[in-house]
Amino acid sequence: MFITTQQTTWALDDDYWQSAAACSGLDAELFYAAPRERGQTQHKRERQAKAVCRACPVREQCLQYALSRAEPHGVWGGLTPDEREALLRP
Ligand code: SF4
Repeated sequence: MFITTQQTTWALDDDYWQSAAACSGLDAELFYAAPRERGQTQHKRERQAKAVCRACPVREQCLQYALSRAEPHGVWGGLTPDEREALLRP
């Protein structure tokens, strides 16, 4: 599967876009919930992760990648698992 942006066409199976990720080198715990994480702690972490995603040059590619795999965990493309699940609902 391919997706097209204004700049180029990306193959979703091609992990090349990940080399431009704004989260590269950051602690993965910012993007993934700790066991039993809930409430304000979860919302604060997700807000911080989303702030990184907002400035990411490959946000669209990341989101399409996660949606194509129905990725159940973590913030991808600036969206939480619940937000991505809502996009995938018929
Ligand atoms: S959109 Fe967010 S999770 Fe995806 S590559 Fe960029 S910074 Fe990382």
